Amino acid sequence: MTRTFFVGGNWKMNGSVSQVKTLVDNLNKVSIPSGTEVVIAPPALYIDRVRQTLNKEIGVAAQNTYAKCSGAFTGEISPEMLKDLGIDWTILGHSERREIFKESSEFVGEKTAHALKAGIKVIACIGEKLEERENNTTTQVVTAQLKAIADKIDDWTNVVVAYEPVWAIGTGKVATPEQAQEVHETLRKWLAENVSKDVAEKTRIIYGGSVSAANAAELAKKQDVDGFLVGGASLKPEFDQIINARQ
Ligand code: PEP
Repeated sequence: MTRTFFVGGNWKMNGSVSQVKTLVDNLNKVSIPSGTEVVIAPPALYIDRVRQTLNKEIGVAAQNTYAKCSGAFTGEISPEMLKDLGIDWTILGHSERREIFKESSEFVGEKTAHALKAGIKVIACIGEKLEERENNTTTQVVTAQLKAIADKIDDWTNVVVAYEPVWAIGTGKVATPEQAQEVHETLRKWLAENVSKDVAEKTRIIYGGSVSAANAAELAKKQDVDGFLVGGASLKPEFDQIINARQ
């Protein structure tokens, strides 16, 4: 089966009013290939501005949401608020949130379930640290992270899994196409055995970690690489080439 190629751009905590305008103007000029879905994740403060000015064929995501709809949760935003603004997606479980803000896999699972219930699609991030890869525990780590999500949800239709090895994020050290394919295949097999064959076949598993115009085309050739989550390069003109990597 063909899964729609997915390219996400994670701006992280970068941007200003003028930079956001330039980025949106540039994205509005990119011709999006048919069969490719593009979703941009600006900082929360700029999300409404981006949704209002970005072409509708490009989706918008939050970089994080909380597991409640409203209440005394200072500093948090809810999936229901995104819905209110016409935003369809959120990233959850990014390694920077897991590492810096100490988010557990169980919490990521809980937030994923809440976002889906609120009608927000989820880019669910998982990935091993360098020492875990070196200890040969990559499979255990990523499948445990995936299980924590699987334990909390029944419907995978609106989930994109982002495999992002922590050692490759923002380091310029990209996984080889073979390394990415090996983990993506393992994740798909895990979904087939533990969720269903149908979910395994339909769920997009994208790669993130130092993706650039120079390496995207080779990665995109791999059978189980269904797209990318791009950090640094999503702020550069080369993002256009990454969007077109499958062509
Ligand atoms: C990310 O932030 O998800 C990411 C993959 O970053 P970078 O592309 O900069 O490594």
